[in-house]
Amino acid sequence: MSSLQELQQKINYEKTIDCVQCGYCLPVCPTFETMERETHSPRGRINLVKMVAEGKADIDVLEDPIEKCLGCMACTTVCPSNVQYGQILEGAKDVVEQNKQKSKPQKGVENFLFDSFFPSKGWMDTLGNATWLYQKSGVQKVARKLNLTKIAPLNMEHFEKVIPDLPSPKERKKRANRYISKRPATAKIAFFTGCVMDSMFFETNKNTIHLLVKSGAEVILPKQQTCCGALHAHSGKVDESIELAKANIKAFEEEQVDYIINNAGGCGARLIEYHHLFEEGSEWHERAKKFVTKVKDITQILVELDQIEYTKPVHKTVTYQPSCHMTNVQGVIEPPKQLLNKIPGLTLKELKRPEFCCGSAGTYNMLQYDESMKILDMKMEDVCSTKASDVVTTNPGCLLQMKLGIEREGTTGEMEAVHIVDLLAQAGPVGKWEKETRG
Ligand code: SF4
Ligand code: SF4
Repeated sequence: MSSLQELQQKINYEKTIDCVQCGYCLPVCPTFETMERETHSPRGRINLVKMVAEGKADIDVLEDPIEKCLGCMACTTVCPSNVQYGQILEGAKDVVEQNKQKSKPQKGVENFLFDSFFPSKGWMDTLGNATWLYQKSGVQKVARKLNLTKIAPLNMEHFEKVIPDLPSPKERKKRANRYISKRPATAKIAFFTGCVMDSMFFETNKNTIHLLVKSGAEVILPKQQTCCGALHAHSGKVDESIELAKANIKAFEEEQVDYIINNAGGCGARLIEYHHLFEEGSEWHERAKKFVTKVKDITQILVELDQIEYTKPVHKTVTYQPSCHMTNVQGVIEPPKQLLNKIPGLTLKELKRPEFCCGSAGTYNMLQYDESMKILDMKMEDVCSTKASDVVTTNPGCLLQMKLGIEREGTTGEMEAVHIVDLLAQAGPVGKWEKETRG
């Protein structure tokens, strides 16, 4: 195989041919709107990938347009030719990544983050515990007072302000790996805890288990589960993301459950596409297909099981910011709204442009901070016009981004960003449950 053929295969060249250049995708692309450049539109990006794959342009021309793509997949929802942009983007990211000149220390940090940090429950727990210590020991106050947070890498000084209060290591340790409902069993569920979700939004994960148990489900947290691989794929680390997919398929197969439930739109979108990572007809493709049929978002299963009565009124006006990956990749659109409408006292005001990405997009807001903030400010204009007191989301990245948006608007204290699970838990099941339902 020639090197050009190899490049074409890697970059998914044959998928670019499906694009008929109609331009219907342009008006829905946030980066085309903010950057006003054809090269930073879906059509322009596809064209560049095609030119590179045909040997008519150098790989370097792809770097900026591809890195500035949010991967929100809004373009795929309006494309009349059903262009598989996600696969084109993933191939292009892989090629761009391999083309980059990186220093040894830079490679070392990246390898640690992607090979050891995100996939390790131990490391993610350590991150959660270290953040708890930082928050509780007073170091946070001192660091803020002395402006030391400014030296944090990857624009963390901004995100540091909006990380929620985390539970103590003791609280973390208390969580069991199996919970059995006292009600007649409705389903056997494996909960995909996620790496960032479990580290930074441990309480939301706990509320998720609570809602599932109260829905009559037996809930298992497979010990061998790992990061879904979305962050790896977004960063052009395709091989690593495939290994993580295999590890998860294996871990969840062992439990023989009815459903695999997650509460993070970005992770869910990765999990339901695992079969695309393997060659059709291969053993892993078959195993991935079985895995994928069981994957659901928490909002889908709560609507489907329909066992909880939300009786405690929440007298608030809220708006809902849908996760792009949950909407555009998983196709989960109505269940979150159906659940919000069940909460007594709650008024749901829809955004004018709910489909417009919030600019979080995995690690985009850290790596492309300025572009991300332009997009966030546009989103916040829409959010503020609803006059809602709360912005409800279904993904950790969107949640942090919305918290940051509130902070940028100067409306901290008047407005809040909340995960839908936490709001449902507030309105739903009461009483102690954790000790009684441990399996
Ligand atoms: S994924 Fe989003 S940002 Fe990227 S080209 Fe498509 S619409 Fe634009
Ligand atoms: S809508 Fe689809 S076919 Fe039309 S330009 Fe965009 S990607 Fe190409």
